[in-house]
Amino acid sequence: MFIVSLLFCYFFKYFYLSGDKLSRISILDQSRCQPKKCNYTCIDYCPGVRMEEDTIVIDEKSKKPLISEELCNGCGICTNRCPFKAINVINLPETLDDPIHRYGQNKFELFGLPTVRKGNVVGILGPNGMGKSTILRILSGELIPNLGNYEITDGRNGGNGGIGENNWDKVIEHFKGSELQQYFKNLSNGEIKAIHKSQMIDQLPKFVKGKVKPLLLNLDERGKFDEIVDDLDLKNVLDREIKHLSGGELQRLAIAAASLREADFYYFDEPTSWLDVSQRLNAVKVIRSLAESGKSVMAIEHDLASLDALSDYVHVLYGEPGGYGVVSGMKGVRVGINAYINGFLKEENVRIRKNPIEFTIRPPTAEEEGEVLSSYTNIEKDFKGFSLECDAGEIYHDEIVTAFGSNGIGKTTFAKILAEKIKPTTGKVDKKVEISYKGQYLDSDFEGRVEDYLYTYASSYGSNLFKSEILKPFSLEELLEKNLKDLSGGELQRLMVAVTLSQDAQLYVFDEPTAFLDVEQRLIAAKTIRKIIESKNAAALIIDHDIVFIDYISDRAMVFYGEPGLNGIATKPTALKDAMNKFLEDLKITFRRDKETKRPRVNKFDSYLDREQKSKNEYYYISDS
Ligand code: ADP
Ligand code: ADP
Ligand code: MG
Ligand code: MG
Repeated sequence: MFIVSLLFCYFFKYFYLSGDKLSRISILDQSRCQPKKCNYTCIDYCPGVRMEEDTIVIDEKSKKPLISEELCNGCGICTNRCPFKAINVINLPETLDDPIHRYGQNKFELFGLPTVRKGNVVGILGPNGMGKSTILRILSGELIPNLGNYEITDGRNGGNGGIGENNWDKVIEHFKGSELQQYFKNLSNGEIKAIHKSQMIDQLPKFVKGKVKPLLLNLDERGKFDEIVDDLDLKNVLDREIKHLSGGELQRLAIAAASLREADFYYFDEPTSWLDVSQRLNAVKVIRSLAESGKSVMAIEHDLASLDALSDYVHVLYGEPGGYGVVSGMKGVRVGINAYINGFLKEENVRIRKNPIEFTIRPPTAEEEGEVLSSYTNIEKDFKGFSLECDAGEIYHDEIVTAFGSNGIGKTTFAKILAEKIKPTTGKVDKKVEISYKGQYLDSDFEGRVEDYLYTYASSYGSNLFKSEILKPFSLEELLEKNLKDLSGGELQRLMVAVTLSQDAQLYVFDEPTAFLDVEQRLIAAKTIRKIIESKNAAALIIDHDIVFIDYISDRAMVFYGEPGLNGIATKPTALKDAMNKFLEDLKITFRRDKETKRPRVNKFDSYLDREQKSKNEYYYISDS
C-alpha cells in the first residue's frame, strides 16, 4: 500500500512540477508544532523524504520542520500524522493572481489588495487570520510587500539595496499600469501621507506616556481638537494619564489621534472594539467626516451595523484563516454585506459559507405563556458615586435575553448580582437557579496549556457531547497545545464562552461574548449557545453591543439607561422591539431592515426614513406587517 502511494505521489509531483505557478501551499502553525515531543513525525512519514529528497528538512534556527513547496506533492500524510495538527497543505483556487506578500516559508500568503477611493470609506470584511491587518500595514507603508518572494529581506533596515533585499521600487514595478503603481510611488517618496490606527490599542500606553490633552493638542494638525474631542466624548478624560485609561477610552483616544493629523490616506483597524453602541456610531461619524472632507479612508470592522454605516464600498476577504487570504473585488456596501450574509460572492463565484445567516423575527414569549426559570425582585446597588436600579423581572426557560446600554451604566454589575458574585444593596434573586457565568474581562493568568485549562474547568471535558457540541464549533482542537497565556483575544474569548457552556447550569450569563470575535465566530457562538440552552431547557442572558448579533440572537431584551458613571436603570426583560425602541430613542437613532436579508441597518440621520420612523415612534423597525 505504501509503495503504491509513493508511486502515485511521484507521478503526481511530475505533473505538478511541470506547471510554473504554485497551486498549493503548506502552512506550519509554529505555535502548535512541537518537534521535541513527536521527534519529527512529519519527516519520518514523508514519502518524499523516504525517496531521499529534501521535501521536509529541519530549520537550523527554529528546529522546526520546513516543508519544500516545490518538492511536496500534497499527499497529506504529514498533515494526518502530525499529532498536533500543525501542518495544513492547501490547494489554492486556480484563478488567483500573483501573491502580494508572504510572511515566510510555510507561512501565511496574501493575494490581492483593496482599492483606495478618494472621498470615500472602503470597508474590509472578513474572518480573523485572513490578512486584513497585513493589508493595512502594507497600504500605510509599514510593511514592504515581498510579492511572495519571502527569501528577500526588508531593505530599509540597514540594507544596501542589493538583489536579496526588498524595496519599494520592486513593488512599484510590479504594479505597473495599475492605480497602485502611483500610490506606492507617491507613498514611498513621501508625496502622500498615510495614517494608521492599529488594532492593538491596548499596547498604546507602552508607546505614549503622559496625559491625554497635551498628546492630542500636539497632534492637532487639522485644527479640529475641540470638534473631535466633543464628537468622541473625550472631555472627561483630557486630564487623565494615558496609562489609566479603560479600553473604550483608549480606543477613542486612538481614533482622535489619527483623525487630528493631516494626511491623504487614513487606515483604521477595528475601530469599534471596546465601544458601546452610541460610541460606535460617534466613531463612525468622525471617521466618515474624514472622507467627506475629501480624504481616502479604509476601515476593518466586524460589527456589521457599524461597517454598514461607515462604508461606501466593501471588499470581502476569503481563503483559509492562517493559510491564505484573497481580497474580493470592490462592492457597494449594501451588496457586499448582503453577499457576505448570504455566504456567496457572485462575481468571484466563491462560496464562503454553506448557509446564509438568517434573521428571523421571533415573536417574543407572551408574559402569560413563559415558564419562569429565574426571577428577581426590584434590585438596587449603590457604589460610591454610582447607583443602579433594576425593575423586578423574570427569565423564562429556553429563551435568550440580551442586555444593552452605554458603557458604565451597570450591566456588568447586574450580571454579577444575578450570578451572586456581588450582593445587592436592596432586593434579591428570589428564584435561584444554578448559574454559569462568563465575566467581561478575561483572565489569562492560568499557567499551562489550553488542554490543562479545559481539563480543570470544563466540567464535561472528555465526553463525546463536549467534543461534538462545544470543542468542534468553537474550533478549540487547534488551541489545545497552546499555552493559555499565548492566546489572542479572540482565541481566549472562544475558550471562555466554551467553558461557560460546558458547565451544568440552568442560566448561562455572558458578559460581552463577541469582543474580539469575527462575524463567523459571533454567529457560531450564537448558534451554539442556543443549541445548548434548548437541549437543557435552560436560558441565557447576554450583554452585548453588536446590534446585528443582538437582533440575531434575542428572544427578549432588557435595556439599561440613565447617566453613565452616575446612575443606571434597568428595565425588566421585554420584547426586543420595545427594549430597542427605548434604547434608540435616547440615542436619537433609527434602524430599518434590509429588504433582502432582513438585517438591521442604521438610517442616515435626518433622512426620509429616519424622520418617518421617528414620527411614528418606530425607532427599531421590526417587520412590514
Ligand atoms: P487579520 O487581521 O485578518 O486577523 P493578519 O493580517 O493579522 O490577519 O494575519 C494574517 C495571518 O498572517 C495570520 O495567520 C497571522 O498569524 C500571520 N502573520 C501576521 N503577522 C505575521 C508575521 N509578522 N510573521 C508571520 N506571520 C504573521
Ligand atoms: P457596564 O458594564 O454597563 O459598563 P459596570 O456595571 O461595570 O457598567 O459599572 C457601572 C458603574 O459602576 C461604573 O461607573 C463603575 O465605575 C462603577 N463600579 C462598578 N463596580 C464598582 C465597584 N466595585 N466599586 C465602585 N464602583 C464600581
Ligand atoms: Mg487584524
Ligand atoms: Mg460591563
